[in-house]
Amino acid sequence: MKSYAKILEPLDLGFVKLRNRVVMGSIHTGLESPIHAGGSTQSSNKNPYARLARFYRDRAKGKAGLIITGGFSPSVEGELNTGERPLQASELDALRCVPDAVHEEGGHILMQLLHPGRYANGGDCCVAPSPIMSPISQTLQVPMEMSVSLIQRTVDDFARLARNAQQAGFDGVEIMGSEGYLLNQFVARHTNHRTDDYGGSFENRIRFPLEVLRAVRSATGPNFIIMFRVSLLDLVPDGSTQAEVFALAERVAKDGANIINSGIGWHEARVPTIATSVPRAGYVWATRATRTHLRSRGIGIPLVAVNRMNHPDILEQVLEDGDADMVAMARPFLSDAFFMEKVMSGMSDHINVCIGCNEACLDNIFSGKVASCMLNPMAAHEEERAALPTMTPKKIAVVGGGPAGASAAITLADRGHHVTLYEAKAILGGQFNLGKRIPGKEEFQSSVDYWTNSLQKHPNVTLKLNTKATAADIAAAGFDEVIVATGCEPHPKSEAILPGVEQYPNVFNYVEALMHPEKVGRRVAVIGAGGIGFDMAEFLTSPHSTSAATVEAAQLTKYEKQSPSEFKEKWGIFQAADTPSQTPAGGLARPVIRPPFRQVTLFQRSRGKHGAHLGVSTGWIHRLEIRMNKVKTVGGVTYKSFDGKTLVYADGEGKEHALEVDSVVLCTGQSSNKEFETAATAGPTPVLSKLHTVGGCNFTKKLDAKLAILQSHGVAIRL
Ligand code: SF4
Repeated sequence: MKSYAKILEPLDLGFVKLRNRVVMGSIHTGLESPIHAGGSTQSSNKNPYARLARFYRDRAKGKAGLIITGGFSPSVEGELNTGERPLQASELDALRCVPDAVHEEGGHILMQLLHPGRYANGGDCCVAPSPIMSPISQTLQVPMEMSVSLIQRTVDDFARLARNAQQAGFDGVEIMGSEGYLLNQFVARHTNHRTDDYGGSFENRIRFPLEVLRAVRSATGPNFIIMFRVSLLDLVPDGSTQAEVFALAERVAKDGANIINSGIGWHEARVPTIATSVPRAGYVWATRATRTHLRSRGIGIPLVAVNRMNHPDILEQVLEDGDADMVAMARPFLSDAFFMEKVMSGMSDHINVCIGCNEACLDNIFSGKVASCMLNPMAAHEEERAALPTMTPKKIAVVGGGPAGASAAITLADRGHHVTLYEAKAILGGQFNLGKRIPGKEEFQSSVDYWTNSLQKHPNVTLKLNTKATAADIAAAGFDEVIVATGCEPHPKSEAILPGVEQYPNVFNYVEALMHPEKVGRRVAVIGAGGIGFDMAEFLTSPHSTSAATVEAAQLTKYEKQSPSEFKEKWGIFQAADTPSQTPAGGLARPVIRPPFRQVTLFQRSRGKHGAHLGVSTGWIHRLEIRMNKVKTVGGVTYKSFDGKTLVYADGEGKEHALEVDSVVLCTGQSSNKEFETAATAGPTPVLSKLHTVGGCNFTKKLDAKLAILQSHGVAIRL
């Protein structure tokens, strides 16, 4: 069993001892405000914080060392979203169930104090140091410049909220001073154009955050954890310089914080900070630089490293290397509440590793829904989606071992059913094995590993790989229930899509192109600009897409060892810890753009922006990626013909154009694989009455792994 001595080491803060070094970092779930949490229909418990308490209880039971809640706003101007009003003193008794649940499981919990400033989407107006609208404002409001009296009142609001947290039983607070929220807005010249005592010089710009920190300490006394999140890297123009970051961290340590957490990138930054394409532990260098500086000044405050750490080996390495004193991750505790318990019990290969997709966590939140996890639909829905032990174990067949089938099989087996999983291929994972070939999605392999490890070793599972189930076999085996998860495949090449495509060998569907890129020429038309079309454009422009062998080698290399320096170069992130005075403000340099491997034109029939339907939190990255790779986008087209060399299409005005290409790749949708279901329906067997079709073989419109797994989970918890 691998030793995880560093992450399992307790941290003694003098007045409190944390049981290990792994922090569940803050993630807004949508359950922080009674208006959302109380809107649940799943619980008869009228306490509006009951869902939040249950959510954190599971993570504390799973042995997280320290938990930080999603943000609570200190004042009405600081409502993050509409209706998420500030905590009322009258609600403290109700809120107490949250820290109580965590304490009952042996954990500790901080409330995050968050004032969004110009990022506020609730209330009638937002406020900021200067009246400069955020480029990502949903309300398109120019913020009101805060008066000195409002600043002082806001300091009091923070202090009052911290005192309320203390009275409700929290072990401390995290003051959110990064990610471009209000306190960070005061620190950076980017958003602070004031000329009074709160603007101009560095000393003036950090005045308000430090006043907040001192007021919170004074309101709560010495034996209360204060973590302050310092923005180590703003990644916006006119952000803090490295020297300013170091100076602020020193002041935060001296003015009463117990722990410094790392903040990486403002929400409006156009550099990926948490998406799958960010290398694992890809920003730890920023924490290391600050920690090294503080230690050189004799300041021993613990520092927390953050962002894209999702596996215990990586966490251990960060601490082993002395880059940080603690490690924080939020989303990996959504995908697996029992992450740390599995580490402690030698089951780390059974961790359901977060792949950084954001599809059900951040994308849900940005769409006004309660957060969850694509890989674990129970996250933040612990009661209504609970997988309870069955009282009547059944014999259940699962036909197909893709994301929907594999997930359902684990849930059914965990509940006590006896499951036989049939997979026609030699490996589990279905379309994830295609997805992992896309640059930046190499980590999809970790889900394949999780499904494989969990099912191979599960006492309630018989795993039949390389076995194509037939309806007759299944009927003969006498299963009580049958889950059909046979997935989907690309639409057949059809003249209805593009006249000519059936005749020419240089027309490929997306599976053919991903598996055999050596057949695809250098000038390519990609037809269809949905998620698969975007993935294909990124794939074909990558230098690794020369052949199947180079794709596989790159996938494996990147999965096992990613390179932060390549990533930094590509996105123009400047690191100059040794020469802090020379660091460009905000840590931004000029990105290094390399010529694309292929010349790709990405077509779509609809008018409007390419990628408009991609995930809210990651769509901008994909749009930027294809722009950096010089992909030409053409929309509003009608496809006319292809003669093996020339693609003819009409634009929105009906004018015809001809494009010479070497290959065409079709990303025009998928068809459900109904072969098994059809056979079961046609035969004289009783299989049909027991069939439950889930995922791609059930529907393809708006199909994605999130919906497929959610649907299969719904079936698996009902049987
Ligand atoms: Fe991680 Fe994706 Fe789950 Fe979010 S939805 S927690 S990013 S796996």
